Amino acid sequence: MSNIFKIAILPGDGIGPEVMKQAIKVLNKIKHFLNINIITNEYSVGGSAIDKYGEALPKKTLLGCENSNAILFGSVGGPKWDYLPLNKRPEKGSLLKLRKHFDLFTNLRPAYIYNNLFTLSPLKKNIINKGFNILCIRELTGGIYFGNPSGRKGNGINEYSFDTEIYYRFEIERIAHMAFNFALQRNKIICSIDKANILNTSIMWREILTNLSHQYSKVKLEFMYIDNAVMQLMKNPSQFDVILSTNLFGDIISDQCAMITGSIGNLPSASLNNKFFGLYEPAGGSAPDIAGKNIANPIAQILSLSMMIEYSLKNKIISKKIENAIKKVLKAGYRTQDLFTNQLNEKIVTTEDMGTLITEFII
Ligand code: NAD
Repeated sequence: MSNIFKIAILPGDGIGPEVMKQAIKVLNKIKHFLNINIITNEYSVGGSAIDKYGEALPKKTLLGCENSNAILFGSVGGPKWDYLPLNKRPEKGSLLKLRKHFDLFTNLRPAYIYNNLFTLSPLKKNIINKGFNILCIRELTGGIYFGNPSGRKGNGINEYSFDTEIYYRFEIERIAHMAFNFALQRNKIICSIDKANILNTSIMWREILTNLSHQYSKVKLEFMYIDNAVMQLMKNPSQFDVILSTNLFGDIISDQCAMITGSIGNLPSASLNNKFFGLYEPAGGSAPDIAGKNIANPIAQILSLSMMIEYSLKNKIISKKIENAIKKVLKAGYRTQDLFTNQLNEKIVTTEDMGTLITEFII
């Protein structure tokens, strides 16, 4: 790796710029611990780029990302741009384009519950007390979201619409290798979610995974139908280590994983290609309902930075420093509004304060 690491910073819309500012505070602190020269450049994306340049992903932004080692993304979208045709809107016009352009086929969504935040989870005490630590791996550039044909035809009662769920062997093989390798660094159990009792794509998915599992004899591979998986996640999330799924099922199951942790404001994500070039972003959206109020939770954005340090910079020691600082801040009772449950030691803080506290707790 060269001695320079360039990060393209894309704050986007809504709470994006507010929470990104906090991640940059953290980056400025940990820069000195990293044995590498960090260079950051900020670019417009999403609705704010539409307002400024007439498109959600201006050429300058794409070029800036191409010339970087990783992308730190905020969030895009909001009611102001909802009148636009779907493929011109902030999300489809920028985020989906970036995922396809950089072939970011592996989406990682860690979901774990912090000791001090058990009361936030909608799950019952006897379930949540067992804790959980899940890595959701979602295939991100294939399947029904990109399959052709897709469209709408006919008239009257014969009008119909259709989408195509399609997976190539190479797409399944590459996400499977990623999942096996991530499982090797954890508790070595993969639960692959599918609908192999109905869908051909799921049958092929199972076959390929089963064959590849012989190359990873230390990893236990299990399968579960999606309908059972959503129930099991509510009943006993502690049974899962790595959850692997297609694009569509992963979209659903990763949000359910988010919900059982209590707040989407805590959850980061990484989208990687096979060279480990990554786009790192919070799991949530631009939260227009709370934007500009200095109340958004910046933890997901800060943890997205931490994932960048772990996966793109391969520096687990520094990413752990950030995670530990967050744990300490939460243990001390500091809460943004979304995390506040009116417990005795809890103190509500602003977005700015939370960013500053986490930065100060990094040692
Ligand atoms: P959302 O995630 O923005 O908000 C859902 C709820 O979670 C809201 O009540 C919001 O206040 C809360 N929330 C989200 N992040 C939070 C944080 N960090 N701290 C505290 N509370 C937080 O989802 P939505 O309302 O469905 O979508 C709003 C906009 O965001 C839409 O335009 C949508 O298209 C866009 N969106 C963007 C992305 C992305 O950029 N990756 C992802 C999802 C949605």
